[in-house]
Amino acid sequence: MEAQPRKRSWAEPFKIKMVELVKMTSLEEREAAIIEAGFNTFLLKSKDVYIDLLTDSGTSAMSDRQWAGMMMGDESYAGSENFYHLEKTIQDYYGYKHVVPTHQGRAAEHIISQILIKSGDVIPGNMYFTTTKLHQELAGGQFADIIIDEAHDPESEHPFKGDVDLNRLQALIEKHGADKIPYVCIATAVNMAGGQPISLGNLRELRELTQKHGIMIIHDMTRVAENAYFIKQREKGYQDKSTAEIVKEICSLTDGATMSAKKDALVNIGGFLAVNDEEIFDKARNMVVVYEGLHTYGGMAGRDMEALAIGIKESILDDHQRARIGQVQYLGDKLIAMGVPVVRPIGSHGVFLDAKKFLPHLSQDEFPAQTLAAELYLDSGVRAMERGVVSAGRNSETGQHNYPKLELVRLTIPRRVYTQAHMDVVAESVEEVYLKREKIRGLRMVYEPEYLRFFQARFERIVG
Ligand SMILES: *Cc1c(COP(=O)(O)O)cnc(C)c1O
Repeated sequence: MEAQPRKRSWAEPFKIKMVELVKMTSLEEREAAIIEAGFNTFLLKSKDVYIDLLTDSGTSAMSDRQWAGMMMGDESYAGSENFYHLEKTIQDYYGYKHVVPTHQGRAAEHIISQILIKSGDVIPGNMYFTTTKLHQELAGGQFADIIIDEAHDPESEHPFKGDVDLNRLQALIEKHGADKIPYVCIATAVNMAGGQPISLGNLRELRELTQKHGIMIIHDMTRVAENAYFIKQREKGYQDKSTAEIVKEICSLTDGATMSAKKDALVNIGGFLAVNDEEIFDKARNMVVVYEGLHTYGGMAGRDMEALAIGIKESILDDHQRARIGQVQYLGDKLIAMGVPVVRPIGSHGVFLDAKKFLPHLSQDEFPAQTLAAELYLDSGVRAMERGVVSAGRNSETGQHNYPKLELVRLTIPRRVYTQAHMDVVAESVEEVYLKREKIRGLRMVYEPEYLRFFQARFERIVG
């Protein structure tokens, strides 16, 4: 009989040099805080939160090297040394030729949308993202979803739910004509699908199809390294490639990129636009001066650019991604083992609870995901985010709620911030709420702002 290999645990490829103290709260304090916040986790004060899983945006921990880089900030108005370091890092690690720094991702989206989109254009993408879509619309374009159907099904175990349905793109080209499609927007580790990756096989086919029609591919590379790590794990022929090699191959199949460096790239603020085409670069470099700042800082301080250049180099390391994705997976597997309904497979940056299945006795009019996020906070001080009917807003014509198929609570994991013990506390708290789920009552909305209501809406418990 062959001996079974013994299970070997992994651990984070870092040790902790400085800690940030957090407050432990009592149930009474949390009850008061959530009532004051109108049962909306966006309105909680962070000092009342124990484990903050609201978002992975700008919440990661920087390394000692990044902090040392902050001290090397060259704050010259023009020609900062840190810009040239950042530019070279982007060229070396991602392969794009030209770089325009911006203060964060949406600024890069603004610039590229204004340059490439004409009124009446259609911009296909593998699922929408809030700011990306809005900038396309503000430029006169219209977003069209071309992601595969499996991406909308929380139970599908498809390994690459970020893939594009090429037939859908073909149909759009036939309907509108290629000249109405300036580019296809491709996100890696698709955020709104739950951090689901696109495969290199699919991206290569997409490249062929778009090239035939003279359509560019602009890459939303916010989570490119996380996507690359999934390819290494799941796509045939990539097991022996490094995350860094896969990242470069992904980028090589696209013509340019927008980056929110607040995610993958391990900084608290920053972003950029990168393109290969000289003419587009010229226009972008000119536009950034109007909206962001000179083309050698674009809204970032010199020290921010230095921390970003170092963060990029750390983000593409296999050991980093193994721990990063491993931690999210660890929490997801634990919840699955507890029988808690979650979106499968577990994505790159968080675990999504299926609130419809969690609280089946609540109708969507009683805001199950909003309720679940509030209950989780009450139980343990863990802060999550609603992604359901509140986020979906109202239909502008009928005034009725939009009722999305997915009613989710997102537990988003910041990078290098929390330990496995924190993940245990989160899982145990979700389980506790799950065990008493039948007793949970829904919420009633008592204040509703006009735009992006999920940020500021207020609720009360339904009684009686
Ligand atoms: C966060 C994000 C953006 C926007 O970036 P900001 O830095 O927040 O402006 C764009 N696309 C995706 C996929 C994101 O997750």
